[in-house]
Amino acid sequence: MNIKKSKSLYKKAVNLMPGGVNSPVRAFKSVGGNPLYIKKGSGPNLFDEDGNKYTDYCMSWGPLILGHADKDVVKAITETAKNGTSFGTPNRLEVEIADIITKRFPSIEKIRFVNSGTEAAMSAIRLARGHTGRNKIIKFDGCYHGHADYLLVAGGSGLATFGTPDSAGVTKNNTKDTIVVPYNDSDQLEKIIKKEHADVAAVIMEPVPCNYGLIPPSSGYLNAVRELCSKYGIMLIFDEVITGFRLSKGGAQEYFGIRPDITVLGKIIGGGLPVGAYGAPKKIMNCIAPDGPVYQAGTLSGNPLAMAAGIATLKKLDQKAYKSLKDKADTLKKYLGPALDKYSGRVLFLQMESIFAVYFTDKKEIRYVNEVRKTNMNLFAKFHNEMLNRNIYLSPSGYEVGFISTAHTDADLKKTAQAISESLDKVLN
Ligand SMILES: *Cc1c(COP(=O)(O)O)cnc(C)c1O
Repeated sequence: MNIKKSKSLYKKAVNLMPGGVNSPVRAFKSVGGNPLYIKKGSGPNLFDEDGNKYTDYCMSWGPLILGHADKDVVKAITETAKNGTSFGTPNRLEVEIADIITKRFPSIEKIRFVNSGTEAAMSAIRLARGHTGRNKIIKFDGCYHGHADYLLVAGGSGLATFGTPDSAGVTKNNTKDTIVVPYNDSDQLEKIIKKEHADVAAVIMEPVPCNYGLIPPSSGYLNAVRELCSKYGIMLIFDEVITGFRLSKGGAQEYFGIRPDITVLGKIIGGGLPVGAYGAPKKIMNCIAPDGPVYQAGTLSGNPLAMAAGIATLKKLDQKAYKSLKDKADTLKKYLGPALDKYSGRVLFLQMESIFAVYFTDKKEIRYVNEVRKTNMNLFAKFHNEMLNRNIYLSPSGYEVGFISTAHTDADLKKTAQAISESLDKVLN
């Protein structure tokens, strides 16, 4: 494959930006090779600067549930832009999207829009602290909530620990109020809550972790977390930046029938433009300025372009769209059947609705972060490379998941299954 232009752009970029990129994983460090410079996206496809075409399963890390350059989304953005891109005032589109989201998420009566998932998670925690008057938060090893200092925290060796900074530049003071526990282990959570609850404001979690591979919750686990939080007056924050409008039209909370106290959204609700949001029942959201004492603001928050792209996206996500996404994922799995049988005990293809992960492991299921850590990331790197050679673009890290969009066709899925099968032959023989 000729990627001359991508190579020359990358060579220039590394002298101009750290790692040549504006977000670390894009640099291909964990899979090797040269990042691709994308010029255009259309439906399920990406086109790089050298004119190569790829079937995409990164989908901008999740937002593009309708595929690239969906015509209704592009129309909404261009029509809106004709009237200006930002006013620094309230606008009609904010009201419209707030109405759509609150109707689909019964746990959200009021919502505040921000510009990224990071910002939304930070603000949700400030809200939980402001509302409860408590200081500490509990997070789960392997869950990602953006890059706020006190959320960049590493877990200990599987036991509940006070977090240690996971990044240079984050001080011990920044993370001293963050407690890290293993996901899918309600006994550990109960133990730490019993000890610390008087000063715990919130438990924050991805209901289904999707940033450390894909880790499905064990049966009854999310219920147990909900019950513990309710019992001890701790706010349960669901970070649904990925799962919101992805697992179902009411997110993971609808999918599993669990009502969090505060919900964090992002990605899909911006239709491919920068966005985040957090919402909760009125009683809690009334703590936010200007109604209450918890301050949070943003120059470009509620930006009309992001709101328009979000509305256009959410309007197309009806029951039929979710059924079609699920059908596509099931079809891919069906096409993969023979290859997965052939390499049973060496590779695991996990899928939940339109999210999937490929693990090189002998495990039949994945429940714990430590199991993801033990998967073979060298094999994943080789696999990623083989897939690229077959014009399939997977997220460039074995810790990331794949996303199917409504734009992927049966032919795309068939071709993808063929590419996976050939790549496994190369990597595992
Ligand atoms: C992507 C993501 C974030 C961060 O969102 P940004 O818009 O990248 O800041 C937070 N939480 C989860 C679960 C995410 O997947």
